[in-house]
Amino acid sequence: MNTNRLGRPVIDLRGVFKTYGEGEAVVHAVDGVDLTVERGDYVAVMGASGSGKSTLMNIIGCLDVPTKGSYRLDGVEVRLLNDQQQSKIRNRKIGFVFQNFNLIARTTALSNVELPMAYAGVSGRERRRRALAALDLVGLAPRVDHTSAELSGGQQQRVAIARAIVTEPVLLLADEPTGALDSHSTDEVLDLFDNLSAAGRTLVVITHEEEVASHAKRVIKMRDGMISSDRRLVAVAAPPPRLRQTTGRAS
Ligand code: ADP
Ligand code: MG
Repeated sequence: MNTNRLGRPVIDLRGVFKTYGEGEAVVHAVDGVDLTVERGDYVAVMGASGSGKSTLMNIIGCLDVPTKGSYRLDGVEVRLLNDQQQSKIRNRKIGFVFQNFNLIARTTALSNVELPMAYAGVSGRERRRRALAALDLVGLAPRVDHTSAELSGGQQQRVAIARAIVTEPVLLLADEPTGALDSHSTDEVLDLFDNLSAAGRTLVVITHEEEVASHAKRVIKMRDGMISSDRRLVAVAAPPPRLRQTTGRAS
């Protein structure tokens, strides 16, 4: 499907199951999911509480492995990796955004954004340069020396987004990113996601808010561990050449 134009998919789930417990107490949290997400897509995942969204996100984020089935992240079969390799691929290929920001307390915005690059072995000077550029991109250049306590919720989430994109991951994975924000901050975050998507980035966003989903190019609904609907709103454009080059070098 479009493989010539867009290259290998970022996410490729085939026959994925995740069960908890056994016997009468067994829970089929993810119950046979096939899902392909192409580079440059912007996908919203919706569904009632208990429908399996978080379990699926944990699998996509390499925080958990399927009980059965195959998951290729940017061409790599995650099942074949040990724990250390999984955390490495997670750090290299995925930027996470959480409902409660998960910033390090009493630490400046700049340090929070520099942190993931420390793990990646980037030099101090280069870390600073890239972190400042990412904070500028999210509109926080004047606040780089502020700690989390000195920032509003919306500003903290923008720091978290800067932290998520600073390593140039192939996938931005967000779990209820606007769940703790007021409507003004929500709009700011959605604007940022729109810009990142327009720049060719790949986004998967869990949300129960229709407004958030309406910004996506594709809306997937989950029910009882299965995908109950998969609706495309906007076609996936070919990534701009610069991004294609960058992601090619990183892999
Ligand atoms: P959602 O994020 O859509 O609310 P979840 O993925 O958290 O759904 O949960 C899907 C189902 O799996 C639910 O029935 C939940 O109770 C169950 N579940 C999730 N995690 C566990 C776990 N660690 N142990 C047992 N059951 C679990
Ligand atoms: Mg959940």
